Amino acid sequence: MKLASKLSLGCIADDYTGASDLANTLTRCGLRTVQTIGVPADDLPLPEVDAVVVSLKSRSIEAGVAVTRSRASEKWLRGRGADHVLFKICSTFDSTDAGNIGPVMDALRAGSGDAIVLVTPAFPATGRTVYQGHLFVGSVPLNESPLKDHPLNPMHDSNLVRVLGRQSTSKIGLVDLADVIRGADAVRTKLAELAGQGASAAIIDAVFDPDLETIGSVALDHRLSVGASGIGLGLARALVASGRVRPNASSTMADAPVGGPAACLAGSCSRATLQQVANAERVMPVLHLDPEQIIAGKEEVRRAVAWAKERIEDGPVLIASTSTPADVAALQSRHGRDAVGHAVEQAMADLAEGLVAAGARRLVVAGGETSGAVVDRLKIPAFLVGAEISAGVPVLRTIGTNAGEMLMALKSGNFGGPEFFSDALSMMH
Ligand code: ADP
Repeated sequence: MKLASKLSLGCIADDYTGASDLANTLTRCGLRTVQTIGVPADDLPLPEVDAVVVSLKSRSIEAGVAVTRSRASEKWLRGRGADHVLFKICSTFDSTDAGNIGPVMDALRAGSGDAIVLVTPAFPATGRTVYQGHLFVGSVPLNESPLKDHPLNPMHDSNLVRVLGRQSTSKIGLVDLADVIRGADAVRTKLAELAGQGASAAIIDAVFDPDLETIGSVALDHRLSVGASGIGLGLARALVASGRVRPNASSTMADAPVGGPAACLAGSCSRATLQQVANAERVMPVLHLDPEQIIAGKEEVRRAVAWAKERIEDGPVLIASTSTPADVAALQSRHGRDAVGHAVEQAMADLAEGLVAAGARRLVVAGGETSGAVVDRLKIPAFLVGAEISAGVPVLRTIGTNAGEMLMALKSGNFGGPEFFSDALSMMH
């Protein structure tokens, strides 16, 4: 593997799915992108890439720990040559007055030497826009959106200048849409003015993608920015437009064949996944696990691995824990929701381990939590992001695993078309 030259963009994401979303966005903009799981080891063998997204789970943990992990990630990214680091947050600005956006931003800015940092969660493609510093989710302000009832971080204020001000030691300024529309130089002038008034962070409005491109080009003058996948898009397009990154057929490298047997695991009970499992029955052998047996012990997983071993040399197989909503509810009422979820996730992780031991090199996993359990169990340190199978779901190539390279597709339950499993396998050779 040819080792990397200097990174053009380093990113620190405060949760795994946000990291994947950003990695996918950067790849679609032509940046060869790797997503790591946690702070990478110093000796992670990195192919030649333009961007690395370090995935943390730091959104809702104690602020001091989030700062420590984010700093460690930044150190690693800077060590790989990243001049610019994006701290990736949720596009709905998920946080509380205790953090963690403000404390992490303050710490990273202090280390960066920047006078002022640009902050925007805008991501117009998903309906997140910022105007006069107020975040809108679709047509309503943040505090009228479902985020007002979020179990961990209810958002009761749409004014991000105020929200960030409560969790940061920085004075927060605003660069409004009128300045953004006038272009990069107007934004630079405004930022200098705000810095002169003592601000060390500025919320910047963005309503359409070209606003993000302007923001991206200004952000590249700095060492740090804070935002969601939208500012990632702006930074990526600015890197390409300035000639600092040559847009790559990023999929060519990520999608080179690995060969070997293929298997699918479905641990999501979403309606889309139920349909996808039903459709897969027409094209591959499908084993339905008995969830009651999974809770009873390890025998159900052993049985499933033996079933798969007899078949995977002949073609892909699918193993599903999926049940109808009524059956899921009944099981949960007998054993408790958390206990059932945990038991099934661990069973899927056991299965993934058994399938890899049996030679599987191509793995498709349905379910967000299920995917997290599988990736953790297989101790996958990082992925190279490849071609998109369906919106938001790319082919992933593992990096740095002991078992050798594998191709994976990880999807949240509701993602993907009705033929998702065969669509994914047709792109994973
Ligand atoms: P999604 O992306 O659809 O939310 P997840 O994998 O994140 O999928 O969540 C599905 C949850 O349901 C997991 O905790 C999984 O272990 C659990 N689960 C899977 N199958 C069953 C089942 N038959 N009964 C109850 N819970 C299940």
